[in-house]
Amino acid sequence: MTETPIPTSLQFDNSYAQKLDGFYTPCQGDVAPDPELIALNRPLAAELGLDVTALTDKQLAEIFSGSTAPAGADPLAQAYAGHQFGGFSPQLGDGRALLLGEVFNQAGERRDIALKGSGRTPFSRGGDGKAAIGPVLREYIVAEAMFALGIPTTRALAAVTTGQSVMRENGPLPGAVLTRVAASHLRVGTFQYFAARGETEKVRQLADYAIARHYPHARDSDTPYLALLQSVSQAQAELLAKWLTVGFVHGVMNTDNMTISGETIDYGPCAFMDTYDPRALYSSIDHQGRYAYGQQPVMARWNLARFAETLLPLIDSDESRAIERASTEVNLFAQQYLTAWTGCMRAKLGLQTARPGDGKLADDLMAAMEGQGVDYTLLFRGLSEPSFGRAQEVASLFNDPTTFADWFDRWQRRLKDEASDPVTRSLQMKRVNPIYIPRNHKVEEALQSMEKHNNIAPFERLNKVLSQPFEQQDGCEAYAQPAPEDFGPYRTFCGT
Ligand code: AMP
Ligand code: MG
Repeated sequence: MTETPIPTSLQFDNSYAQKLDGFYTPCQGDVAPDPELIALNRPLAAELGLDVTALTDKQLAEIFSGSTAPAGADPLAQAYAGHQFGGFSPQLGDGRALLLGEVFNQAGERRDIALKGSGRTPFSRGGDGKAAIGPVLREYIVAEAMFALGIPTTRALAAVTTGQSVMRENGPLPGAVLTRVAASHLRVGTFQYFAARGETEKVRQLADYAIARHYPHARDSDTPYLALLQSVSQAQAELLAKWLTVGFVHGVMNTDNMTISGETIDYGPCAFMDTYDPRALYSSIDHQGRYAYGQQPVMARWNLARFAETLLPLIDSDESRAIERASTEVNLFAQQYLTAWTGCMRAKLGLQTARPGDGKLADDLMAAMEGQGVDYTLLFRGLSEPSFGRAQEVASLFNDPTTFADWFDRWQRRLKDEASDPVTRSLQMKRVNPIYIPRNHKVEEALQSMEKHNNIAPFERLNKVLSQPFEQQDGCEAYAQPAPEDFGPYRTFCGT
């Protein structure tokens, strides 16, 4: 980073830097040769108190490339560890990210502002510390789409090209930096880093910080660390339920990619499922299907157990008692998840009241969809149409429509228990069943046109459509349709 910071209207208050000495290394971003601002999230900037009109595009590009710090920032690389595809790496950390600092948003919530792709850090190992334009724009698109869908997520504030190429498998690609905003960057892996070194007091310090920042009510509990575990479990259960009900596949749910806050983080080989398939998987590196669509709640519970392990010495000085108490909490995850999922599904099916058979009704729809080549998003949007005349159209999504007919009759009978009229119900359902998701071929089109032709227009258009996922928008039919046949099977690559 250059010597003199740029004054901005951001009011930094860097609690991580101030309170967690020993949990990070202070670090500077590389100076980009020719930084250019290609995307700026103006509403988010305003929310964070950043007056972008007071800055030139050049200054914004300097800040968001990591070339120059905004005044008040304390750039640092965070230490963390993590289980990656089941194997433990004791030392990962921010190898290509920098936390600039924290600000309060308009709602008074503390938010991290961080860069991704700003250069090497002491945690870079063999990596170059950089990011290529494609993954940067993918994270921008998907994070903002998730936000618009009402799913807890880190946000994208800006994307900048650096004017420098980065070498990747297929040759040189334009280098870029993403600016990410998060409730925090505390990960399960942050706890694991210190727990694995037997640094119990550091784990306690981190847990106290996490409680103060995310779950202050846990402080009043007789067993605050158990309460922290319980809160994280609840947040993760709700998050996973939301992922599954929109067909989201994260792709790399390693413990270093699971937040304590319950936000989705680290959009690497992620994708939205088109055809319903519990085994849906888009990551090029997940050969076993560890993080396939339907496996995600199972893996979230596995990750939660790893988190619980880090807290054991804080939960009870007697290890077997600590294990027993922590296990009880972790074992509640499945039920928390199921309750959250059933709640989401009720809304998707237009059920305002709760009946005992609702979970089974939703489950049976999933079962009916399996192997039927049904587009997940189109199905639920189709069910949201008010006229029963559309039943035929929805049934036609199935290879064998008779599979669906029985379920549809049961659903119609169940709806008779509801007081709402069909028109109101349709409106309510359309508020939770999106018409637009980041369809893989549309995401790819946007990335390719920037990567190959330096044309940002398709990216901007896609973002705009996805910012209102529940509202039918004129002329946007193509964004609601599944990929054409010739798009072929989709593979995404990890954070490269
Ligand atoms: P991710 O797959 O993005 O969650 O990253 C996993 C780990 O690899 C983290 O510790 C990253 O900081 C690190 N990493 C990923 N890409 C790079 C890179 N290009 N240079 C240095 N470190 C990297
Ligand atoms: Mg990561």
